[in-house]
Amino acid sequence: MTRVRATILAAPRPDELQVREDHVISFDDAGMITAVEPAEAAGGPVDLELPGTTVLLPGLIDLHVHAPQWPQLGTGLDLPLDRWLFDYTFPLEARFGDLGFAERVWESLLPGLLSRGTTTAVYYASTHEPATLALAEACVRHGQRAFVGRVAMDHPQGTPHFYRDRDASEAVAASARSIDAIEALGSPLVRPIVTPRFVPACTDALLEGLGELADATGALVQTHCSESDWEHQYVLDRYGVTDAVALERFGLARPHSVLAHAGHLADDDTDRLASIGAGIAHCPLSNLYFGNAVFPVRRALSRGLRVGLGSDIAGGSEAGLLPQCAHAVNVSRALTDGVDARLGPGRRGVDGSAIDILTAFWLATVGGAEVLGIPAGRIDPGHAFDALAIDIGPESGVEVWPEVDDWSRIFEKVVRGAAPTNITHVWVAGRRVGPWRS
Ligand SMILES: [Zn+2]
Repeated sequence: MTRVRATILAAPRPDELQVREDHVISFDDAGMITAVEPAEAAGGPVDLELPGTTVLLPGLIDLHVHAPQWPQLGTGLDLPLDRWLFDYTFPLEARFGDLGFAERVWESLLPGLLSRGTTTAVYYASTHEPATLALAEACVRHGQRAFVGRVAMDHPQGTPHFYRDRDASEAVAASARSIDAIEALGSPLVRPIVTPRFVPACTDALLEGLGELADATGALVQTHCSESDWEHQYVLDRYGVTDAVALERFGLARPHSVLAHAGHLADDDTDRLASIGAGIAHCPLSNLYFGNAVFPVRRALSRGLRVGLGSDIAGGSEAGLLPQCAHAVNVSRALTDGVDARLGPGRRGVDGSAIDILTAFWLATVGGAEVLGIPAGRIDPGHAFDALAIDIGPESGVEVWPEVDDWSRIFEKVVRGAAPTNITHVWVAGRRVGPWRS
């Protein structure tokens, strides 16, 4: 049993800030929390007492990361999605056939995300089995909770000749071997995930085969869904139905499937995915570049759809989820108000779309955990001790003024204003995983 003493800030519901000042968290050898009590009631010694100028938050759950795009983070955002893929992204991902290069990237990516408080990540690797397995091994080694998927893509028009699976049956076989190899690592934290890139990159035979593979293995599924005008229309043209309907027919929209972006979902699609129990990786910054629309978080939540947050490295140009919380609020405000001043205020936006920073943080923690169906996202008994500590002291750069700030304002300043350097400790399943600074 390990005991940590800290002040905890969390969002157990989208509209509730939970403040637990000076509490003791106890967790067992598997990293599962057994008790959270006020320090004076808990009594006894603790293993670690965080300074009073520190707050503890539940770990951040990034539902959408393209691991091999780490080297192009912050660049290449000048093209629409289809051209961005062919001009920048597929050539970069193809390089991960070089295992040495892949391993060097993973050795930068993992500490980079953990030091920003990303305790769970859902990864697209590349099409290459060795690079995919090496990513899963890096997650095990660094102690990050992760879902790691070999990217399957075989469509002769939707992919370049130098970066695609040979055919559908070879692709399904490679994904099956990749799942077995990740399972064989025996890690309770790192799981395989079936990963058709998206409909335009996959033949019908591949989509069908991967639906069957998900059925046979019980692995979760991730893909992209109604991401942009082009991608959404492509699926309508190919099948005469929306992306959500097509994915369901192929057995890919399932309980806890992670569907990225979804800015072009119709309400029918939203209801369909909600009833299936699939979830959305909302990637607010990436959608500004590639989505052509703002995903309506509030409407989706009100219809019972599961939603969490994604950075979409590198379609989104920032790592870590604290910046994405602010972006989620910002884009929701743009959706509410609209953006073209020439339209009258009544016609400019979609009234009632705004979310606040609390809801955004809920998405990054509890929302993501519900999408994946994992016991994380909260600092409560029965959940894993996945957490990050943030320094808000006088030298931290987080401007806390006791004369004017209550906990609600401090929370907002932390989520909007804390820099990666303010993060002093990160734990996954009770194990300290960073940041390791010299
Ligand atoms: Zn993506």
